[in-house]
Amino acid sequence: MTTPDYRTLLETAIAEARQGLAEGGIPIGAALYRNDGTLLGRGHNRRVQEGDPSVHGETDAFRKAGRQRRYRDTIMVTTLSPCWYCSGLVRQFNIGTVVIGESVNFHGGHDWLREHGVNVIDLNDAECIAMLGDWIAANPDVWNEDIGED
Ligand SMILES: [Zn+2]
Repeated sequence: MTTPDYRTLLETAIAEARQGLAEGGIPIGAALYRNDGTLLGRGHNRRVQEGDPSVHGETDAFRKAGRQRRYRDTIMVTTLSPCWYCSGLVRQFNIGTVVIGESVNFHGGHDWLREHGVNVIDLNDAECIAMLGDWIAANPDVWNEDIGED
């Protein structure tokens, strides 16, 4: 089995982030794939749209994927380093690989995931850095709310 091209998978998460931006929300998107490149679910942060702080890109993609027998051979692709809540989800369900678009605007739990044997790939993607960076600069209060900062 060949390893899927991670940047290609990231495009799905970026498209979700863009959709969130178009909806007036926080531009963070994610997608859950199988190692063979099969898309299982995709989603984006909807804190603003639905008034629900528990809908992160990763949790949205995870829920859209429905029930899976196992997660070791899945890839969580997200535009941003996963927060503690989403990093906990990765460990709880033993998701084998996490691909992150960037960890410049926010450094979440990906070092911790790596320490616990998760295959973590940080693509340091300029598009992801710019999209969220511009949004944070324009919406600092909503951003601080999202990451739990006073
Ligand atoms: Zn999260």
